[in-house]
Amino acid sequence: MRLHTRILAGLLAGAVAGVIVNFFAADDIWLLAFLTNVAEPFGRVWLNGLIMVVIPLIVSTVALGVAGLGSVAHIGRIGLVTLLTFLALTAGATALGLLAVNVVQPGAGLDPAVTARLMETYRSQAQGAMGLAQGALGINTFVNMVPRNPVSAAANGEMLAVIVFALLLGVGLTLVGRERADPLLRVLDSVAAVMVAIIGLVMKLAPYAVFALIFGVTARFGFDVLINLIMYVLTVILCLAVFLLVGYTLVLHFVAGRRPADFFRKARVVMLTAFSTSSSNATLPTTLRVTQDELNVPSRIAGFVVPLGATMNMNGTALFEGVTVLFLAQVFGVQLSLGQQIVVLLMSVVTAIGVAGVPGGSIPLLMMVLGMVQVPMEGIAIVLGTDRILDMCRTTVNVTGDMVTATVVDRFERREQQQTRTFEATRAVR
Ligand code: ASP
Repeated sequence: MRLHTRILAGLLAGAVAGVIVNFFAADDIWLLAFLTNVAEPFGRVWLNGLIMVVIPLIVSTVALGVAGLGSVAHIGRIGLVTLLTFLALTAGATALGLLAVNVVQPGAGLDPAVTARLMETYRSQAQGAMGLAQGALGINTFVNMVPRNPVSAAANGEMLAVIVFALLLGVGLTLVGRERADPLLRVLDSVAAVMVAIIGLVMKLAPYAVFALIFGVTARFGFDVLINLIMYVLTVILCLAVFLLVGYTLVLHFVAGRRPADFFRKARVVMLTAFSTSSSNATLPTTLRVTQDELNVPSRIAGFVVPLGATMNMNGTALFEGVTVLFLAQVFGVQLSLGQQIVVLLMSVVTAIGVAGVPGGSIPLLMMVLGMVQVPMEGIAIVLGTDRILDMCRTTVNVTGDMVTATVVDRFERREQQQTRTFEATRAVR
């Protein structure tokens, strides 16, 4: 059986088993003990195994990617196309979410008794996130993007700072000349290859680990929360599905010049990993491998776009943020004008860039956006109970967006190369 089939089997079996035990034994001591001591630690060990390789992988692939692009001007052009694609996809996703939430109005009919009960249950979690929300995005976010000490940035998992260092490392490699750059290039190439080999080993465990992770989620899950918020949950999931299946299909077909069915077939294993881990960072090694080996995007492009996307390109997260802000505004009876909704759109796009690619990474930034449009921040408590399932879905869209962007940039670069060749050929003829 192929890996993605086995992961899917683990996912389904884990989900079904979890739902069954949740139904019959939700509060039993043995179940809680099994979850805390066996299933969840096993899942976490696997996640750690994936996350372990992320920093060396980012440093080596981004630096190699940038160095492979050759000149600073070329890096600038590819960088610009990448950023514009990220922004366009993120804004498109958010606009879709905002449109849907205005049409469906999922917050308008929510029973105030349900609202009060949810606020009570999730108050303490919401307060925890509120602490993180303060200062989650400010001028310091930009200042800290350039690390004083790359080793400490790596040790603290500050992805953007690590990426900036790796980008500059790549630029430096293009400036010192072939002979002096070569030894370091070869070391980086070897580091990247070894990391990919480690991922191959870790991914062998994926079907079992995914079983354990999903079993933990569904066995603990309070399904009544889902029922109460069903309109909200369905709005988010349907919008994500439409953006994934229709939005990306259009971009793949018309902009990237790829066959969407073929793309999605190859991307399956990445999408399943994102769905099971709820983390763009943990999925990054797999995303990178598939983008290079299966989607045949050259490593200099994949190595540049994909790690950047894992931290900066969060299409699903921005969509989720937009829908949630408007949903909570509806619940609290806060009227948001068109102008304020545009602010929500812009802020969702901007904050999604700052979201860490970890489970629940968007919650603190989402609270900031709530505060900006005068919706009570503690209202986040209402939706926290549904966050895990929505996180799984939005992370899948996030990482798929990174692969889509890589194919778009690949097409752009091919065209550029072709134009240069035609130009040189005409010059030679003359
Ligand atoms: N879990 C998401 C990711 O890693 C981030 C978020 O929306 O919370 O892409």
